[in-house]
Amino acid sequence: MDYDEVVQRFDPVLGLEVHVELSTNTKMFCGCENAFGGEPNTKVCPVCLGLPGSLPVVNGKAVESAIRIGLALNCDIAEWCRFARKNYFYPDMPKNFQTSQYDEPIAVNGWLDVVLDDGEVVRVEIERAHMEEDTGKSLHVGGSTGRIHGAEHSLLDYNRAGVPLIEIVTKPIVGTGARAPEVARAYVTALRDLLRALGVSDVRMDQGSLRCDANVSLMAKGAAEFGTRTETKNVNSLRSVERAVRYEMTRQAAVLANGGRVVQETRHFDESTGSTSSGRTKETAEDYRYFPEPDLVPVAPSREWVEELRATLPELPWERLKRIQTEWQLTDPELRDLVNAGAVELVAETVAAGAGPAEARSWWVSYLTQQANTRGVDLADLPITPVQLARVIALVAEGSLTNKLAREVVDGVLAGEGEPDQVVEARGLKVVSDDSALLAAVDEALAAQPDIAEKIRSGKVAAAGAIVGAVMKATKGQADAKRVRELVLSRCTG
Ligand SMILES: [Zn+2]
Repeated sequence: MDYDEVVQRFDPVLGLEVHVELSTNTKMFCGCENAFGGEPNTKVCPVCLGLPGSLPVVNGKAVESAIRIGLALNCDIAEWCRFARKNYFYPDMPKNFQTSQYDEPIAVNGWLDVVLDDGEVVRVEIERAHMEEDTGKSLHVGGSTGRIHGAEHSLLDYNRAGVPLIEIVTKPIVGTGARAPEVARAYVTALRDLLRALGVSDVRMDQGSLRCDANVSLMAKGAAEFGTRTETKNVNSLRSVERAVRYEMTRQAAVLANGGRVVQETRHFDESTGSTSSGRTKETAEDYRYFPEPDLVPVAPSREWVEELRATLPELPWERLKRIQTEWQLTDPELRDLVNAGAVELVAETVAAGAGPAEARSWWVSYLTQQANTRGVDLADLPITPVQLARVIALVAEGSLTNKLAREVVDGVLAGEGEPDQVVEARGLKVVSDDSALLAAVDEALAAQPDIAEKIRSGKVAAAGAIVGAVMKATKGQADAKRVRELVLSRCTG
């Protein structure tokens, strides 16, 4: 079924669960270092290995981060909450339970406004944000897919076991229709930017410090009850979030249209094919036999502390955009173009390096965006830095480069020829600003076209263009056309 038909016949309902690893110094319940990678099983202790007799202690910094995330998401912060044991067996979880929060999360009932590419704002309601710990990692050796099936043996690395996690869960997102995949991507993007601004995580989707599970179900148009949902696990790029939701909508629509039933299950997203495949049948809450964690005291953040954290939240992404819009005097569409081009940060850094906002913006959203598209890379991955671009802009402002020459300098930097000043030197790109050299060229051009020279002398100033053009050609474009024109006119009227 094609996508247009899917959204004509069905309404999608989304639920997004995002796990974020906090960048605290130590783990959630022990003093082990919290850092990505490292030799396997070197960042472990009796607590995160779940050895008998060991006792956990809550990481205060992680609680603080959880509260700050909750506040930034407009949530209510619980006056009292507890951890709970989520019981299940898996080799990467040495305690046989995950210490999580269940019916008493630290933050509930918030929202996040999400801006789509065309400027439409969708308010995503947040059900809860709760604290928990990450599991270790399994490595399945010997198979072709890296999955457990076909593997000869498995290795376990517990360095990640006990790393602090915040899970942020949305309420059902309804009414987005055909734009559901885009809303999913925009939500995770907005959440990533928010978490980055809060400084609570390095939000690297490629390293798993930000992971998204996408719940998708369909209901027939006009139906009152939600359909059966599937949960696509650990989607690890923004683009994949959008693709996974779209794929699931299309897959489920085909099942339903053929009279079948959607099975409630977890699914895996395959980056290379863009499709999802069946995982395990989804557990229900009862399967996990949640009960309050007896080894940890409840968390009861004082109102004074919460208010102190609220008052010291940093400038949040949407506040920053509003300020930037005012400071750089941008219209709404101009701001949107900047955001959609992924250029806000780059322009801000270029401005910080001394360039004017208008020039910086123009370079990043037009010429450099073209260059990025041609090379098939993200704007931020172009081999030119904001500081280098600011230098080029400064050379134009002081009259050493024309816009045309500036582009050649930028091309040189992109080609790896060094700093802007080195490119100017090596390619010989400086504007000819020496008046005597220019005057010689002007005289030569006037002598070569005596009829035009005569016209200018008789007052037909418009004819000067031809002489200016000839001089620009003679100087290979390295003269300031405005200055050349002044010289031509003064030669003919003086
Ligand atoms: Zn430990």
